[in-house]
Amino acid sequence: MRAMRRPLLRVVLSGFLLSTVLLPACRSAAPVATKATARRLVLVSHDGVGADLAWSWIEEGVAAEPQGLHAMVESGFAARRVRMVNPTLTAVNHISLATGAEPGTTGIVCNFFHLVDRPITEGISGFSAPIHAQTLWQAARHQGKRVGVLTWPGADGTSPDRRGDFGLIWPARPLARSKILELDPARAGHASALPSADGVEPLVWTVSLELGKAHPSKVPFTLTVVDGTDDGVPAYDTVAVTPPGADGPKILERPLWFDVATRATGPDDTRPHRWGAWCKVLRLDRLRGSVRLYRGEVYRLIGYPGSFDDRLEAAVGFWPGPPDRNGLARWWLDPAQGIDLDTFLEQLERLDRYLDRVGAWVVGNEPFDLLMAYHPNPDEYEHIGLIREKRQWAWSPGTELAAAEGLKRVGRSFDRSVASWWKVLDPERDALVIVSDHGLMPLHDTVNVNRVLANAGLVKIDTSGRRPRPAGDTPMLAYASGGCAHLYLNLAGREPGGVVQRAGAPSLLQRAARALADLDSDGEPVVEAIWNRDEAAGNGLGNPDSGDLVVFLRPGYTFSTNLSAQTAIEPSRYYGQHGYLNTHDELCGICFARGAGVPHERPDEIPATAVATLVSRWLGMSPPANAVPY
Ligand SMILES: [Zn+2]
Repeated sequence: MRAMRRPLLRVVLSGFLLSTVLLPACRSAAPVATKATARRLVLVSHDGVGADLAWSWIEEGVAAEPQGLHAMVESGFAARRVRMVNPTLTAVNHISLATGAEPGTTGIVCNFFHLVDRPITEGISGFSAPIHAQTLWQAARHQGKRVGVLTWPGADGTSPDRRGDFGLIWPARPLARSKILELDPARAGHASALPSADGVEPLVWTVSLELGKAHPSKVPFTLTVVDGTDDGVPAYDTVAVTPPGADGPKILERPLWFDVATRATGPDDTRPHRWGAWCKVLRLDRLRGSVRLYRGEVYRLIGYPGSFDDRLEAAVGFWPGPPDRNGLARWWLDPAQGIDLDTFLEQLERLDRYLDRVGAWVVGNEPFDLLMAYHPNPDEYEHIGLIREKRQWAWSPGTELAAAEGLKRVGRSFDRSVASWWKVLDPERDALVIVSDHGLMPLHDTVNVNRVLANAGLVKIDTSGRRPRPAGDTPMLAYASGGCAHLYLNLAGREPGGVVQRAGAPSLLQRAARALADLDSDGEPVVEAIWNRDEAAGNGLGNPDSGDLVVFLRPGYTFSTNLSAQTAIEPSRYYGQHGYLNTHDELCGICFARGAGVPHERPDEIPATAVATLVSRWLGMSPPANAVPY
């Protein structure tokens, strides 16, 4: 694979060799034709954009925006690849990008792991666990700069250390889940404000937007279908929606999306906010008039401080939510279920355009020196849309083709976001830095790690309740995300209630390593590496809260810690994954930059821990305190 990519790399590089040959090659040389440092710097992370993928978008013309990725390569800093830290997971790498430190230093060692001074059954999210290193937003504020942080992973606003001067928190939980409603003509009313032609009787349904535990708890709206064309052919061809509080129906244009929004007070709100959902008519039966309606998840924007939240909400409206991965997962396997690929991509593009508007509004209305922003979408798509191997459950020649075209559409939307940021910045005084946290690789099977360990007598499961749970006296337990698991002993004197004596630890760990190393799928081993604490420390994961063993799967497999699983390995209904060893080039991320203070450079490879230092240098400040020197 490596040998095959090298010639491609040369082709990519030769395109800009002419323009770079006269420029100084040394990083510390004086930049040419740029201001010494940026007045304002915007650092944007696009989750899941692998370096190889980004460069293929540039080479193949997918990234074709005049001020998009291509322009960044031509006029600024462009690393061929960024070697991410292990494990190649979102929380882990976003915190290492933001601190310049290895996970062993930051303490964020997995997307989900265990703090060893807590009972063995307690896990913690890497997105909310304590960060033991100084972040860019802290360093900048400490140096008198004003910082905005827009949904950057880890900046969850829960303490002064985890927020900027202003920012957005990722809305993790909708007020209500999405649902597909089948609207039956037999249950429709017929009193319509819209005329219907050709003798077709109008159909009118009242549907509720459910708001869960908010006040009010639901908001009704009406959906009307009629024959809107007086052409002598009786057929339902027109859909109209009457939103809450509106005077009359509004006819929908294809692709038949509409939003339903209202002011409501959510269970965690101190005052009313604008909550809403994007809904779509997935199917209209022209003969019977029946409708399949997708009612999207209900969200609001979550900003701080309150004045920023109010002004931004008034400017950009409610948070549209991420694309519906479960809906697409169902559709790949059965087109009568879930949501189709177009609908998923329309949701994805809506979130990108919304984030573009948020960015433009912030740049135009809010003073800052450093702005850190986050786009989730490439990762959202690849987890469900990296269909390219026959052994994947949803694979067929058609799904592979559709999935590949879908990925290009994701690339175009990403490129449009890059261009959108650049257009609102001042090229003489501002800088834009685009990074990512990892690439993804195709996925076909799930490894139920705690089932494997239970079969080996190493994990004890309590089946007395409604759902199986790890027993408090289990000798061991695995916490995992993607291709990486941390295995913790329930160690007496470390974990409260620990049951394993130190003398017995080595043999238990040996048995666990053996059980995992022996796992195979059709004769193929599924585990790539098993590290003890010393080996983990030698690879940047030296931290008390790292597992007693750290296990990496081979690409193609993902861990699940599901205790209900009966089999060790089963087919995955998701098709892309990460968290594997960072030595796989496909998992490398990106770093492109242009603008004031940014030199014209083409490093072949930089480590993820260099990004915080580069950003600090370009902004003219000292790097975060724990950053690895670069
Ligand atoms: Zn990610």
